[in-house]
Amino acid sequence: MLLLAPPGAGKGTQGKRLAEAYGVPHFATGDLLRAHVANGTRLGQQAKDYMDRGELVPDRVVIDTILPRLAGRDRPPGFVLDGFPRSLAQAEQSYQWGQAKGTTFHAVISLDVPEEELVRRLIERGKHSGRSDDNEETIRKRLAVFREETEPLLDFYRGRDILIEVDGMGPVDEVTNRIRSALDRIDLSQ
Ligand code: ADP
Repeated sequence: MLLLAPPGAGKGTQGKRLAEAYGVPHFATGDLLRAHVANGTRLGQQAKDYMDRGELVPDRVVIDTILPRLAGRDRPPGFVLDGFPRSLAQAEQSYQWGQAKGTTFHAVISLDVPEEELVRRLIERGKHSGRSDDNEETIRKRLAVFREETEPLLDFYRGRDILIEVDGMGPVDEVTNRIRSALDRIDLSQ
């Protein structure tokens, strides 16, 4: 399953909880990229400036980092993807790749949170996250990039009939329960 939501909506928090509940790995592209930056790898060096500006890292870099983890030799029984795909090119290439590998996304969870609440949460998080992109200017840029490049994916997955829209406001536990009861209604095994 995928979590498709703007920065600050709770993808990371809910992604971890869902992965634990279903006993599958949680792949957060942002975390993977930040680990590369921290370790000073070539990929991290390529990604850092884009991340600090609040822009998307080029599709090819992200695709090559994430897709091999989903269906390698140690293919997991399922997975929670958080922060990928984030552009139409990433979504289309994942779909083609999945077809070739005999795997597919079963559910795409979108978390709906008003923009001013997102900004408030991210500024609050920035006080202790140590993330160089959690400052107001970059936060606004990330939200604009979400609207322009990622939001169109909602229609892409709505068209494939796997989009689940959940209200992301309210206590964390309540949001988790909303997602889980929506997932209970679909078959994740096919
Ligand atoms: P948030 O959703 O709060 O912006 P993430 O940790 O998911 O935080 O992402 C942080 C940054 O990592 C993004 O602003 C972007 O630069 C980069 N990134 C993460 N996922 C992708 C992706 N799928 N494609 C391109 N860039 C990405």
